[in-house]
Amino acid sequence: MSDLSGKVALVTGGSRGIGAEIARTLADRGAAVGLTYHSAADQAKGLVKEIRANGGRALDIQADNADPGAVRAAIETTAAEFGGLDILVNNAGVFPSGPLEEVTPEELDRTLAIHVRSVFTAAQTASRHMTDGGRIISIGSCLTERLPAPGMSLYAMSKSALTGLTRGLARDLGPRGITAVVVDPGPTDTDMNPAGGPAADFLRGFIPLGRYGHARDVAGMVAYLAGPGGRHVTGNSILVDGGFAA
Ligand code: NDP
Repeated sequence: MSDLSGKVALVTGGSRGIGAEIARTLADRGAAVGLTYHSAADQAKGLVKEIRANGGRALDIQADNADPGAVRAAIETTAAEFGGLDILVNNAGVFPSGPLEEVTPEELDRTLAIHVRSVFTAAQTASRHMTDGGRIISIGSCLTERLPAPGMSLYAMSKSALTGLTRGLARDLGPRGITAVVVDPGPTDTDMNPAGGPAADFLRGFIPLGRYGHARDVAGMVAYLAGPGGRHVTGNSILVDGGFAA
């Protein structure tokens, strides 16, 4: 499929897991893709090589999402390299968890910097490059809809901010033909949450479909929203969670 031919995308945290699959899928559909990473340089460069070997266009950029200036620069670099920006995917994320009383001010600040401050800055910067048909897609979490265990207040709070931001972006940018959506994955088999990890059986117990998601499940939804089918979807959140929040 090449419904994204001529489009330019930037995926934050595109070196591994869900972000890597999103970058691969957007490139498969014809988009030129900039992807950021924090420390997995080899994996980011390997994915860029793979996309180029398949005839696509891609670029890897080191950018710590805790630093809004780095994210801004990544967007500028991608837009300069490929001639504009049509699709922003805010995917980079961490998973702070543990007893409430053990959350440090540093962990609180860093989590909010990665999941909230940089996402706002990225959307603001991207909007300067986007024209009619632009898409801002942020990866949230099903834990904002259902939180079945203690120890995840900080994570859930930081991901919940995307809902309000996305509603605001829909209002701010809708008149320019730009949409904003949150995609909320359920438990998805990645380094962050392996299907064979210690929490996996507990989490699977909440999923009517009885299985972990694959990064492809999330990437397919993102690609749909980024393409022509997503033109009238904005200001809301879409669960890709196997029914976890049902
Ligand atoms: P992974 O841990 O597998 O990958 C995380 C990605 O984010 C990597 O590319 C990593 O870069 C990047 N990243 C982490 N910290 C930073 C940072 N400070 N700056 C830039 N990039 C950073 O996680 P997933 O693929 O599972 O998660 C992707 C998104 O999906 C996250 O936002 C997560 O919260 C969300 N999510 C995941 C679920 C799951 O079950 N897996 C469920 C619900 C939501 P590097 O490789 O360089 O470290």
